[in-house]
Amino acid sequence: MRDNGQTLHLAIFMTEILQNYINGKWETPQADLLDVVNPATSEVLASVPLSSASDIDRAAQAAAAAFPSWRRTPAGDRVQYLFRLKTLLEENLDDLARTITLECGKTFGEARAEMQRAIENVEVACGTPILMQGYNSEDIARGIDEILIRQPIGVAAAIAPFNFPGMIPFWFLPYAIACGNTYILKPSEKVPLTMQKVMRLIEKTGLPDGVVNLVNGAKEAVDAILDHPIIRAISFVGSSPVAQYVYSRAAANGKRVQCQGGAKNPIIILPDADLDMTTRITIDSAFGCAGQRCLAASLAVTVGSAQKPFTEAIAEAASSRKVGFGLDEGVQMGPVINQQSRDRIESLIQEGLDEGASIVVDGRRPEIAGYEQGSFVRPTVLRNVRPDSQIAKTEIFGPVLGMLHVETIDDAIALVNSGQWGNMACLFTSSGAAARKFRYEAEAGNIGINIGVAAPMAFFPFSGWKDSFFGDLHGQGRDAIEFFTQSKVIVERWFQDWSRQF
Ligand code: NAD
Repeated sequence: MRDNGQTLHLAIFMTEILQNYINGKWETPQADLLDVVNPATSEVLASVPLSSASDIDRAAQAAAAAFPSWRRTPAGDRVQYLFRLKTLLEENLDDLARTITLECGKTFGEARAEMQRAIENVEVACGTPILMQGYNSEDIARGIDEILIRQPIGVAAAIAPFNFPGMIPFWFLPYAIACGNTYILKPSEKVPLTMQKVMRLIEKTGLPDGVVNLVNGAKEAVDAILDHPIIRAISFVGSSPVAQYVYSRAAANGKRVQCQGGAKNPIIILPDADLDMTTRITIDSAFGCAGQRCLAASLAVTVGSAQKPFTEAIAEAASSRKVGFGLDEGVQMGPVINQQSRDRIESLIQEGLDEGASIVVDGRRPEIAGYEQGSFVRPTVLRNVRPDSQIAKTEIFGPVLGMLHVETIDDAIALVNSGQWGNMACLFTSSGAAARKFRYEAEAGNIGINIGVAAPMAFFPFSGWKDSFFGDLHGQGRDAIEFFTQSKVIVERWFQDWSRQF
């Protein structure tokens, strides 16, 4: 508790200033600082520097200098660093998960699961020596062979969002370096602590200087990445307006870009769905990570007689969810990222009501004992949401589930496909025929059948569609290998007069 000016001064003095990691050295840039805040308490955890274009430039120069030798390091040797990193991540899993909870708000269990998926991406990238192989054809014409090989691109960079501080950089980074590229990572300025710790572990692997660089910052650093002539490929994850901006500007600069954007994920509940299972899964999807998942269910479309029992079951489950600080025992849902986000979510709920929706469970301004300063919104359920209303289209990115009702599966699929988003769509049913129809017709890149968060495993791509993705190759899996390599085709013929001896 800060009780006087002296204590306040001490608290400010002791706040850690985070550092960048460039060319194998930790450094504090000359930059404006931003508070990193625990969303459950509003306590300042650290200060993050908002690095400038010159910091990005030095990181790019370091990565470019490290590239020739790293590229010549055999893939089998490159992945040895990743095997070491996997062990270090496992040994430090709880500490990293605790850091995620502190800066991002999600529960400790959710944070552990997030880090687990990060590790799975390291594991898949360890297969790069075989994943990166090319192919060839002998005798495409008499005595002529054609060979395709994959080569790294050079310097690549990632720009990450706040909601998965530990996992999302791992959709890209392990694949990029395993393929022989060198790297720059810019974490979200809202949650930079986790990657600060991860970078200490990367340093411990003994990776050569300059192969991976960490630059903290916000818009200025992002713009510098988009414009920097050395940086050849950019991976972005964040909101759709910024994704579109990053995609356009980086592509205009001739870069390879993949941008994963926002979402508004519908789930359809047919009358033949298992009600208990569907309720449990929906609640976890809509309110897990406080609804701040790009794969969170945000619209539940009931079909026919499913409406009444499902609405009652969801209302009950939403009201009883335990909300609080994610490190406290038994807490099922933490706060949203900050107070601006809480205010935005609450005003969107009000907008929904003004547009004609009615409230089933109201989670606004909850009292969470002991955490009065936290940015909490409890699970909220709205019904009678009109398909053409703003609340049905706007990504809320908070613990709010809107409910709509239609009479047939065709109406439900038409509703799913009418939206601008295409990140995920799910169906709950016990009919195989309905499931097949849905997976065939639904316009989304990640489909769940009796699944509420259809998150692809690390060895599958994270396939958003429509306004949820800008680009071609997605993060993770084989797409990542293709994104971080360029193919080269060689057509070759050798002359030899076999009548002459060597
Ligand atoms: P955001 O777009 O605000 O920020 C993402 C990154 O872009 C950050 O690193 C930030 O520093 C930078 N940035 C923000 N504004 C910028 C600007 N004007 N110019 C240049 N750079 C800018 O996103 P967020 O709030 O951190 O993350 C939440 C969003 O991310 C949600 O929309 C969510 O759906 C989306 N998301 C998508 C996926 C996916 O796989 N599709 C995964 C996770 C999150």
